[in-house]
Amino acid sequence: MKKVLMIVIDGAADRSVNGKTPLSVADKPNLDEIARRGINGIMDTIAPGIRPGSDTAHLALLGYNPFEYYTGRGPIEAAGAGIEVKPGDVAFRVNFGTVEGEGSIFNKVVVDRRAGRVSDTEDLIRAINESVKLDVDFVLAKGSGHRAALVLRGENLSDKISDTDPKKIGKKVKRCVPLDESEDAKRTAEIINDFMEQSHKILDAHPFNKERAEKGLLKANALLLRGAGEVPEVPKFQDRYGMSLAVVAGTTLIKGIGKFLGGDVIDVEGASGAADTNMDAKVDAALKALNSHDFVLLHFKAADELGHDGNFEGKREFIERLDTAIRPILYLDFSEICLIVVSDHTTPVSVKEHTADPVPVTIVYDGVRVDEVTSFNEFQAYKGGLCRIRGADLINIVLDLIDLTSKFGA
Ligand SMILES: [Zn+2]
Repeated sequence: MKKVLMIVIDGAADRSVNGKTPLSVADKPNLDEIARRGINGIMDTIAPGIRPGSDTAHLALLGYNPFEYYTGRGPIEAAGAGIEVKPGDVAFRVNFGTVEGEGSIFNKVVVDRRAGRVSDTEDLIRAINESVKLDVDFVLAKGSGHRAALVLRGENLSDKISDTDPKKIGKKVKRCVPLDESEDAKRTAEIINDFMEQSHKILDAHPFNKERAEKGLLKANALLLRGAGEVPEVPKFQDRYGMSLAVVAGTTLIKGIGKFLGGDVIDVEGASGAADTNMDAKVDAALKALNSHDFVLLHFKAADELGHDGNFEGKREFIERLDTAIRPILYLDFSEICLIVVSDHTTPVSVKEHTADPVPVTIVYDGVRVDEVTSFNEFQAYKGGLCRIRGADLINIVLDLIDLTSKFGA
């Protein structure tokens, strides 16, 4: 079977600053060679004018309508934390935080939303899973650093409930309240409030936290919940497209998307979402994954972070290093492997947030109608043969190219 390699340069696209963008001024011979050998265009990842999150953008890039399959960050974080989520589960993003005060957790004030950036939370998580007793089944799982994920499983649950994380220090922990009139939402909110009280008591008295307090460290004595989402019925990537999926990424969110869609996440030594991520090792891992999988997503995060920081030069420099790292990809056999290079959304240094400006996209494969575009950037992409497409079109175009689609009509 023909294979697909999709390279996503997160947030690489930008708005024009005096006629320039980091992509347009970067010295990037390899990305430009890819643009020269391929068919190019611009893409509205979700739809014109819709600002994508990285999560909804990646769902769209993989052919999953985010309006249908995105119910909040909770389910994706939970999948990324290694929980086998099931349709109907209600999942939350969780932070270990520090609270102080007397009595009920809801009378206490958040003094740190990251509990002093605690990360060795394994014992605390085990204690919660063993000792908290609720009316439904639940699982708490460790995420990266101070993060975790919580899943409630059972009948008559609802995700129409509020967060308990006040999202600001100096504020009291919030009581969970139903956000609609349903009995399910009322019941779920009560279960969460029960969870909040019980987990706080266990954490506050745990030897791990006593020891932290003695050392003058902040106790990890509260679980702050947000982003409740009911896990939808999601067809696995393999079932939907007949291709096995592998994801090579340093960020937990993108790993979570991979697991959410039933794909394999390839762990790479030294890979992270930061600018100093081990890019050579990631490229190497992606190339190896093409031997064992049919569709490989290779994700690079830092251009987005540098966009959020408003750092034009940093973004340009990262793109140049990435360009050097991806050189081995030019030697792939493009009669066997279809290559896509794309940015998931625009993160302009002038805005420091995601915007809806369309992104450049290039497809390299035997037989594509190679156009006159000679550089991978926002200004040239408009002139390419793909013209303007939506994120959801991309996988259909690729499936057609590699002959994995069937005719509509006779
Ligand atoms: Zn992104």
